[in-house]
Amino acid sequence: MTGVASSNLVLTLYLVSAVLFIVGLKGLTRIRTARRGNIISSLAMLIAIVATLIDLGTFSPTWIIAGVVIGGAIGAIVAVRVQMTAIPEMVALFNGCGGGASALVALSVIWFALFEKQQDAGVALLSKADAVTTMLSVFIGALTLTGSVVAFLKLRGWISGQPILIPGRHVLNGLLILGSLGITAYFVMNATDPSQMSLLTLVVCGLSLVLGIFLVIPIGGADMPVVISLLNSYSGLAACATGFVLSNNVLIISGALVGASGLILTQIMCKAMNRSLANVLFGGFGAEETTPGGGADARDYGPVRSYSAEEAAMVLESASSVIVVPGYGLAVAQAQHAVRELGDLLEKQDVDVKYAIHPVAGRMPGHMNVLLAESDVPYEQLHEMDQINPEFRNTDVVLVVGANDVVNPAASKDSASPIYGMPILEVHNASSVIVIKRSLSPGFAGIKNELFEYDNTMMLFDDAKKALQGLVAELKEAAG
Ligand code: NDP
Repeated sequence: MTGVASSNLVLTLYLVSAVLFIVGLKGLTRIRTARRGNIISSLAMLIAIVATLIDLGTFSPTWIIAGVVIGGAIGAIVAVRVQMTAIPEMVALFNGCGGGASALVALSVIWFALFEKQQDAGVALLSKADAVTTMLSVFIGALTLTGSVVAFLKLRGWISGQPILIPGRHVLNGLLILGSLGITAYFVMNATDPSQMSLLTLVVCGLSLVLGIFLVIPIGGADMPVVISLLNSYSGLAACATGFVLSNNVLIISGALVGASGLILTQIMCKAMNRSLANVLFGGFGAEETTPGGGADARDYGPVRSYSAEEAAMVLESASSVIVVPGYGLAVAQAQHAVRELGDLLEKQDVDVKYAIHPVAGRMPGHMNVLLAESDVPYEQLHEMDQINPEFRNTDVVLVVGANDVVNPAASKDSASPIYGMPILEVHNASSVIVIKRSLSPGFAGIKNELFEYDNTMMLFDDAKKALQGLVAELKEAAG
């Protein structure tokens, strides 16, 4: 193949890949098309890799193929073995790997270019645009790496999930950002001395690694989902900057897609958790506001009404409309098949069954959608928060399965509560509420839930799967 034909082929493949990335991403916006979207995006990635191999021309592709095989094998093993509840940790690590890879690629490209051109020292070794994008890639990539590792360690419980407040952190963060900006400006204006340039990139890398830790370590409690999606966006921006460094169009496009979609997701999460985007972008958000246990004491409950499976089944039997509200406990108990079985049984008895999905129920965006899709709950029965909230008033029974913070009325009533202002599923408006959980322990935000004390609330204390199986058995027995 001639050089021109080969470069046309590469450009065409990159174009196809970019279009497929966009189509795949579009598919991910809806539950029904999400699986197909994933497959299309994977295909886009494969085409991009093949195009890159062709583009390498005379270079040996051995390292890239070896990297793809080893990385792919590790990814496949991790994906198969990971528990549903540990997905956010995995996403945090993936973000970190993406950011770290972008920073390393930018560093290696710059060092390669610098040492190649060493003989010509005295003239500018990098164009101003290349110098800026290289530094951006190193800066964003490195802070994404350490920020994601801290998020991983917090979610894993290997360091405290509570906010760790470093005195004067805002000033320190400001100094780290200003220092990096100053060095970048100097680097861009004085790109003539290779050894000095290598040192400057390493210093910016070091400052940014520290900044990543300082930005995430003060964040705790219910703010973690926003951090994860923001880091996801950062990893995309780092990849985009690396695309400019490598003059690789598909990396620019795919990085921009990840950056933009991560930012959109961040905005959705901010809204769902009542955080402003400005608050997020300046870092250190949620530190003061999310003091765990703020508001009412998490252990201080008045009398609650505890029901057996038999009593709860009787309440369900007499209902004509039931809304199921799944939460983190459903994932822990792996009760998605049991909840589907109960839903089917109720429907056979002419009960109108719906599922209400809160955007931050569980431990990652879309957690509940994924679980319910696994047990083939029909898509049309899933309802988003805004859509379903007005319906609770006209509903006979709401069955809350392992959800806590997302149904906590304190979010709208108690201005001292750390979750005050967070939109919730207004289940307390229904005629009756059955809450399945194992105890009165708090949820992720670590606070009391006054819903459990309400007159229309019945607590069914058990593991979610066992409780649901118990309800199914009772309903079947009653039906004869
Ligand atoms: P919560 O974390 O508020 O509550 C979950 C409840 O499930 C607990 O109170 C627990 O009570 C119960 N539970 C745990 N295991 C079981 C089990 N085996 N069977 C029955 N119940 C069980 O969950 P929500 O889904 O209501 O709210 C999600 C929270 O997580 C929000 O605060 C959100 O901000 C945060 N978050 C969300 C992320 C996301 O992107 N979705 C990411 C990170 C955090 P008990 O121990 O008594 O059984």
